Amino acid sequence: MGHAEVNWSDEVPQRRGAFVKVLNPRPGQEVRGIVCCNTIRGVLTHYRMRRTIPCTLPRNECVGCQDRLSQRWKGYLPILVPSTGQVALAELTPEAIRGCPIARDGKQPIAGMILVCRRAGPSPNSRQVLTLDPTLVPLPAVRYQDVDQLLLRMWAGESHAEVME
Ligand SMILES: [Zn+2]
Repeated sequence: MGHAEVNWSDEVPQRRGAFVKVLNPRPGQEVRGIVCCNTIRGVLTHYRMRRTIPCTLPRNECVGCQDRLSQRWKGYLPILVPSTGQVALAELTPEAIRGCPIARDGKQPIAGMILVCRRAGPSPNSRQVLTLDPTLVPLPAVRYQDVDQLLLRMWAGESHAEVME
């Protein structure tokens, strides 16, 4: 210990990345929040080792494609969840978006609308049902690239992701 050097470190350690909740309703539960962005960010994913990972390009280098896993499209939309005061990402299926005229048509800004997503039936695999209430709540929109950053950090393992499924 006598001549050991102290490991000074003036730089204050950063907190681990932002906590991102990915919300996907369980049967009998609702995902509910105020939409923070006008665009649903779509991405092709694979389900590998019990987690969702992005399909990456070039495809011959994508781990999921190499394992011959099927591609699943997911839509991500940031919502402000009033019960927690935090922004989380609603994870939406193609069926949910096709079944919701406002989301499907994409003709009107959706930031500020109330999103409700639930399961149609009692099974965890029941299809998602999405509704958007067009009564707008005033809210500063989260910039579109922020959604990408949240997703990229989550996939890189730099932030915690709590998946409610
Ligand atoms: Zn792939």
